[in-house]
Amino acid sequence: MRIILLGPPGCGKGTQAKMIVDKFGIPQISTGEILRGAVKDATPMGLEAKKFMDGGLLVPDEVVVGIVKERIQKKDCQNGFILDGFPRTLPQADALKKVLSSLGLPLDYVISLEVDQKALIERLSGRRTCRDCGRGFHVAFDPPRCAGKCDVCGGELYQRDDDRESTIEERLNVYGRQTAPLIDYYRKEGLLVTLDGMEDIPSVWGNIQQVLAGCMG
Ligand code: AMP
Repeated sequence: MRIILLGPPGCGKGTQAKMIVDKFGIPQISTGEILRGAVKDATPMGLEAKKFMDGGLLVPDEVVVGIVKERIQKKDCQNGFILDGFPRTLPQADALKKVLSSLGLPLDYVISLEVDQKALIERLSGRRTCRDCGRGFHVAFDPPRCAGKCDVCGGELYQRDDDRESTIEERLNVYGRQTAPLIDYYRKEGLLVTLDGMEDIPSVWGNIQQVLAGCMG
């Protein structure tokens, strides 16, 4: 099963991807998480990427395409993968198409989660993430039991630099300009499934499972 989760920042791609991982045992490939790991480790790629990420801009295509090309050829991707946050531009989508076709690995579905702009801003500005285990919380919609501390591992919760209100607006603009055209791209490819991302997490998950039942044979 090879799928792409598409949608603006805050639409729930990461949350749903983790549920797919748990149920189907295929890996989530989140270019954002991979890049944040490189920033944390202060690798040359991470230091370069940070300049773009902090401003809410996209990291250059060749960097993320290189990451994904390498990642999807790892052994744990044999039975499939979930791409979360990639592709984000038309050149990325074209590069992905080329590499998948050279490997003989077609995509099954591109699931697009639709959420209105006001809800995205609320979700992103209240989002908090555990520094240690990466679990996500929301100050209003999914608060931790003890303020500032992860329920799962007790780690410190922090706000991603790019989840600050000043950067959110730019990220949403970038999405509209550079990523939203992929909706039409994948519609034309006959791969697009659109779901309402305004529903609560279990309902969206139920709808995703129905879609995925179609590629379980
Ligand atoms: P995310 O965690 O998916 O919201 O990604 C966080 C940031 O990482 C984005 O705002 C970009 O700066 C960068 N990034 C993640 N994925 C990509 C991608 N496919 N293309 C370019 N930049 C990306």
